[in-house]
Amino acid sequence: MAISKSTALFNAAKALIPGGVNSPVRACGSVGGQPIFIERGDKSRLYDVDGNAYIDYVLSWGPLILGHRPPEVIKALEHVLGIGTSFGAPTALETQLAQLVVDRVPSVDMIRMVNSGTEATMSAVRLARGYTGRDIIIKFDGCYHGHADTLLVAAGSGVATLGIPGSPGIPDAVISNTYSLPYNDIKGFEKLMAQKGDRVAGVIVEPIAGNMGMVCPKEGFLESLRKMTTQHGSVLIFDEVMTGFRVSKGSAQGYFKITPDLSCFGKVIGGGLPVGAYGGRKEIMDQIAPVGSVYQAGTLSGNPLAMAAGIATLTTLQDDTVYAELDRKTDRLVKGLQAAADDAGIAFKTCHVGSMAGFFFTDREVYNFEDAKTCDLDRFSRFYQGMLARGVYLAPSQFEACFVSSAHTDTDIDTTIEAAVSVMAAL
Ligand SMILES: *Cc1c(COP(=O)(O)O)cnc(C)c1O
Repeated sequence: MAISKSTALFNAAKALIPGGVNSPVRACGSVGGQPIFIERGDKSRLYDVDGNAYIDYVLSWGPLILGHRPPEVIKALEHVLGIGTSFGAPTALETQLAQLVVDRVPSVDMIRMVNSGTEATMSAVRLARGYTGRDIIIKFDGCYHGHADTLLVAAGSGVATLGIPGSPGIPDAVISNTYSLPYNDIKGFEKLMAQKGDRVAGVIVEPIAGNMGMVCPKEGFLESLRKMTTQHGSVLIFDEVMTGFRVSKGSAQGYFKITPDLSCFGKVIGGGLPVGAYGGRKEIMDQIAPVGSVYQAGTLSGNPLAMAAGIATLTTLQDDTVYAELDRKTDRLVKGLQAAADDAGIAFKTCHVGSMAGFFFTDREVYNFEDAKTCDLDRFSRFYQGMLARGVYLAPSQFEACFVSSAHTDTDIDTTIEAAVSVMAAL
């Protein structure tokens, strides 16, 4: 596989952009490679600048649930391009997207649009603190809630990939009210709530973790978060930036039937354009300015291009058969990968909920970040490189999830499984 043009572009980028990338995991450092520079995307495929084609399971890290350039989204974007790209004043599009979310997610009475998942979680945490008049935030190790200071403690995604505990540049005072516990640790959580619950503003969690690889909640974990936060008057925040409208039409909260107080969205809700959002009970959302006094604002928030892409995406996802098909294809993929590993005698664990999937090179069940860290990272790197060479584009880290889009065909899945059979045989 020739990648000389990518290499040249990467070298040029490194001189001007730290690490040559605008988000760390893209540098592909942990798998001993370099980024592939993309020329274009179409349906399930990415095409790089050297003319190589790949079946894409990263999908811009989750947003592209309909694949690259879905006609519905392109048409909506073309319409908005004809009327203007940003007004900094309200449009009907914002209310339309809000309505689509509120109709599907019963815990959300009202929603505020922002520009990224990071902004959504940062603002939800501020709101939880403003609403309760308390300071403490509880999160879970290996969950990633974007890069806001308060939440960058024992975080997943790039922080996990780089193997760093947190980040310099965040004063201790800023994180002194952030507690991080192991994911799925019901006992530890209940103990901390018993001690500090009356000072806890909010508990934030990925209802299905997808930033330490994919880790599902154990039965009773989310239930315990709901029960204890209600008991202590703390705000339960589901960070559904990855899972929202991805794992099911009602998001993870609909799938598990747990009602949080606030929810954060991003990725799918923006249909491939930069969007985040946070929403929840009216009584809490009414604390946000200009109705209430918790301040949060944004020059480009509710941007018409982004709203139009989100509306087109969620409207296409209205049809339940889309989710059923996504689930069926993802199940086939995951079973095929598992069989390939089993045949090759390789320790491998997989899981998926809808079109969000994960796999670990380990023989133990993965319930938390400590478990995830026991994986064979060398083997992951070799698998990643082998798959890439065979035209399959996976996230370049063991600590990320994998996504399937409605544009992936059964042939794509078969081709991927065949590639896995040959790569696994040589691992
Ligand atoms: C991606 C992600 C974020 C951050 O979103 P950005 O748009 O990258 O800022 C936050 N939380 C979760 C669960 C995510 O997966």
